[in-house]
Amino acid sequence: MNLPPGLKLVAVSKFKPIQEILLAYNEGIRDFAESRPQELKQKMDILPGDIRWHFIGHLQSNKIKMIIERVSLIHSVDSLKLLWEIDKEAGKRGLVKDILLQVFIASEETKQGLNQDELKEILDQKGRFPNIRFCGLMGMASFTLNRDIIRGEFAGLKDLFDRVKREYFAECNNFCELSMGMSGDYQIAAEEGSTIVRIGSLIFGDR
Ligand SMILES: *Cc1c(COP(=O)(O)O)cnc(C)c1O
Repeated sequence: MNLPPGLKLVAVSKFKPIQEILLAYNEGIRDFAESRPQELKQKMDILPGDIRWHFIGHLQSNKIKMIIERVSLIHSVDSLKLLWEIDKEAGKRGLVKDILLQVFIASEETKQGLNQDELKEILDQKGRFPNIRFCGLMGMASFTLNRDIIRGEFAGLKDLFDRVKREYFAECNNFCELSMGMSGDYQIAAEEGSTIVRIGSLIFGDR
């Protein structure tokens, strides 16, 4: 794996045992991502304290408590309700949480994320979340071998990111991350302006 300088790598360790994560840790990786709250909680409790944990799965409101204390970036905020709940739980603990808004960019129905109207609804009231730091956008391309489709979706997300940055966060340095690209498509994502790639199987092998 050959990442351009400046592109951040997050190692997706979901379903992988502690021992394998420690091997990657010993190679120098400090950013790991999980997609299930329970699994993230267990791993955070056991693994070294200097790991930055990312959450990339669908998050139900009632599971926020389990992870909020120690998670460093939630990539997958996909509803206004979830945002309210994260803000509330963060506030109770005196925390400000870093989040990305997950945007729906794929052609399949199954992929999660906000559509453009839902995104706008959130952005129009972004000042109402004192315990949230908006750090950028996240998206997943369609599951297809057609590189042109993937490239088009990533390019669209980059355009959207630039527009949101300009219209809502022009004065805000925190809003700077675009999380796009996985094992199969990270090169395309990097070419289209990704700042964070989420790589699982290329690091840990198949799940
Ligand atoms: C599993 C997962 C990844 C990593 O997928 P690989 O193809 O194994 O690199 C990245 N992002 C999300 C949201 C995931 O659920």
